[in-house]
Amino acid sequence: MRRTRSTKIIATLGPASSSPEKIDALFQAGADVFRLNFSHGRHEEHRQVFESIRETELKYRRPIGVLMDVQGPKLRLGEFAAGGARLMAGMPFRLDLVPEAGDIRRASLPHPEIFAALAKGIDLLIDDGKVRLRVEHHGADFADTRVITGGVLSDHKGVNVPGVILDLSPLTEKDRRDLAFGLEMGVDWVALSFVQRPEDVAEARTLIDGRAALLSKLEKPSAIDHLHDIIALSDAVMVARGDLGVEVPPENVPILQKRIVRACRQTGKPVVVATQMLDSMVHAPTPTRAEASDVATAVYDGADAVMLSAETAVGEYGVEAVTFMDRIINRVERDNAYAVITAASRERPENTAADAISAAACQVADTLKAAAIVTYTSSGSTTLRAARERPAVPILCLTADLAVARRLSLVWGTHCAVAREIGSFTDMIRKACRVARRAGFAQEGEGLVITAGVPFGTPGTTNILRIAWLEEAD
Ligand code: PEP
Repeated sequence: MRRTRSTKIIATLGPASSSPEKIDALFQAGADVFRLNFSHGRHEEHRQVFESIRETELKYRRPIGVLMDVQGPKLRLGEFAAGGARLMAGMPFRLDLVPEAGDIRRASLPHPEIFAALAKGIDLLIDDGKVRLRVEHHGADFADTRVITGGVLSDHKGVNVPGVILDLSPLTEKDRRDLAFGLEMGVDWVALSFVQRPEDVAEARTLIDGRAALLSKLEKPSAIDHLHDIIALSDAVMVARGDLGVEVPPENVPILQKRIVRACRQTGKPVVVATQMLDSMVHAPTPTRAEASDVATAVYDGADAVMLSAETAVGEYGVEAVTFMDRIINRVERDNAYAVITAASRERPENTAADAISAAACQVADTLKAAAIVTYTSSGSTTLRAARERPAVPILCLTADLAVARRLSLVWGTHCAVAREIGSFTDMIRKACRVARRAGFAQEGEGLVITAGVPFGTPGTTNILRIAWLEEAD
């Protein structure tokens, strides 16, 4: 099954979409990667969903990526005596470590790390920023605040503290158990929530130990302060606009989105734009025009993938949401302006053989009007460098490693196929032509630009570029 677009789609699975039939339908509609959200669900449920994805993969013979999203340290209020309390602007309100039900004057906030990091004048945001409290006095186990924006507080509502670095590991005990389970099951990507600093990424990387690729979710202002170091330590990043939009003012989100996408394009690390892209489709069969525009903006900016969350996890129109996303991406990528913007924002190759060959492949494909670039890769890194070039033709990636093919399903412009290791130039050309024809990328008389490394099958050796023309026998 061949997709006709370069930008990928990630669909989050949940109660509305965890049956094998729904997963099949979402894949057919265009989902390239499935996200398992470990903020919800039991391990056994995730395992069943994971197995259904692998069955779909077998049925369509297409590598499908599985992204596990670990919850991270969600900060939450304790409980309230009456289930909640309505706060009015101007009122005093105390947060403390006392494990007693809250009321109109105080509530429990069972996170000592927050009190340790507070300073006078800092704002605490509750329930996605609906209620804002400003710190006036604080100690090791309490904060006296003034209500700036009033509203209703209720049991276990989320708390955000923008602008301060909390002394918290991005992985709680629950996350560590989830991670061990997910890695044992064989997920391809791990999404790390609540990244505050580069050390958080390094810590997760040590735990993952190469068993999956690591995607850092950018949702804290402190992560943006360390953007370049975090990107360098990650295999990919996500503009997690849900939490980011609580932590920073809404008008800053589009600017940060563009900044993050640009920084990733420069380094060649894949970048995902996520959250509320087609949010109205949770309950409606068509998106708003503003939502279509939002998806289109991410595509014009050059994101590798766009993501659906509630739309597919709990929405009534999950398959339709993927279908619309597929339609919007296809439409944008056929716009002349897209080609012009993509070419104009192409990054200069770095001083490496892989970049020199990738840039040359892109140029040769353009000059010869080739049907595709074919990259032979062991680790996936040459394909990533080819994708960084944002060529005008598809990148057909051939690898002997199914895990590599699955990871690359998140990456712009790539179509991966698993092929046995090649042993000779004749083998290399024959295989490339055969796969390109079978997958619908090229037909007789059309050209392919092939990149590979000699000696064959050795990672990090990309050093050849070869042009091949499909013949009748291929
Ligand atoms: C987000 O905040 O945008 C996000 C993707 O994370 P989560 O869905 O875990 O809140």
